[in-house]
Amino acid sequence: MSFNKRIAFISVHGDPAIDIGKEEAGGQNVYVRQVGEALAKQGWQVDMFTRKADATQPAIVEHSPNCRTIRLVAGPETFIPRDKLFSYLPEFVEQLRSFQRDNNIQYSLVHTNYWLSAWVGMELKKYQPIQQIHTYHSLGAVKYQSVSDIPPIATTRLEVEKACLETAARIVATSPQEQDHMRQLMSQKGNIDIIPCGTDIERFGAVSSSEARLKLGIPRSSLVVLYVGRFDQRKGIETLVRAMGHSIFPGLADIRLIIVGGSRPGQSDGIERERIEAIVDELGLRDYTTFPGQIDHETLPYYYAAANLCVVPSHYEPFGLVAIEAMAAGTPVVASGVGGLQFTVVHEKTGLLCPPKDDKAFAQAIDSILSKPTWQAKLGKSARKRVETLFSWDGVAQQLSNLYLSLVDVPTAKPTVNISLKQVSA
Ligand code: UDP
Repeated sequence: MSFNKRIAFISVHGDPAIDIGKEEAGGQNVYVRQVGEALAKQGWQVDMFTRKADATQPAIVEHSPNCRTIRLVAGPETFIPRDKLFSYLPEFVEQLRSFQRDNNIQYSLVHTNYWLSAWVGMELKKYQPIQQIHTYHSLGAVKYQSVSDIPPIATTRLEVEKACLETAARIVATSPQEQDHMRQLMSQKGNIDIIPCGTDIERFGAVSSSEARLKLGIPRSSLVVLYVGRFDQRKGIETLVRAMGHSIFPGLADIRLIIVGGSRPGQSDGIERERIEAIVDELGLRDYTTFPGQIDHETLPYYYAAANLCVVPSHYEPFGLVAIEAMAAGTPVVASGVGGLQFTVVHEKTGLLCPPKDDKAFAQAIDSILSKPTWQAKLGKSARKRVETLFSWDGVAQQLSNLYLSLVDVPTAKPTVNISLKQVSA
């Protein structure tokens, strides 16, 4: 196989070119886009394939020289929840191959993201000599442990995830905890490397707390507790709100709870936001809670920098970009001690870890940081340092680039897996 530095990223449901923070648009979109752009700077030609989910979207978006998003038509050009996308994947594969044919493009490598794209990558390997690298972003084997309504697609997802682990040239786990889960719950076979997610350390570290508060109209004396992320029950916003109900600070100080994230009335994120607002009202927290909606990455650094602490109360988090974004801004993080958060947040060094869903423990952790400004500053400083050392996108992309280069000399393994659409339960 002649080697070229062309790589295809596949992110079927996570469009790297759209607004993040909306339903189903979050860390994966950010990861693919940032890694793609950083790799292009390092000399790779990066094509990022996603499904077109809106007829008005352009088919191709150029992000920078050598890095573009390509939207393929697979199924109706409307939003389809990820659990309903599997049956459109053969069309996605067909469209991708025809794009390659029309433009005479061969890829040496395909980096797939999430299990749907894993299937696409495994299919592509049947038709061309291509090495597959995969990042899960979420593991069915972990997710279904904590979910009561298991969707019909679960069996297929678990099979695809296991097959991908066992046959991809390399799996990228974003934390040691994710690697452990793969080994304990999925398979002993397959090659795993640990390369974390990253963040834009310049962008998120560019603003001082006083500048940020000036811009957002928050007095210097106020205490600010921040949440950033999607409105989804598994994100545990309820735990944070209930923790604020236990906090000793309302009444003692000008405290503010800011809950950042997009939502659309009537959709699942809009419904979750209404549920959260009802809890805010029930606990009498309305006066000091604000919902500024979806905030983009231009403005988010001001929120992180203005906050005394950022809370990530997720029930589970494979990695959790929000934690490292806050840390890059020098803001300590109070997080659930789950998944990748146990790797990014170092307990009592860069923030505090609490048992998930334990609102009393979160209240204690929040209050202990708010009541000790010197300790807060110390935690924030160490947080920034940890992110600089481990989690810059350029550093992450460099590690990925080294991984890709180590693979391109290796002969492509013959695909051995065949998971067909017939296996999907209705
Ligand atoms: N995000 C954003 N604006 C918002 C809410 C979230 O830009 O209003 C971004 C956030 O900055 C982060 C991503 O969405 O980069 C969320 O990633 P994370 O890994 O924390 O969670 P996921 O959404 O993947 O579960």
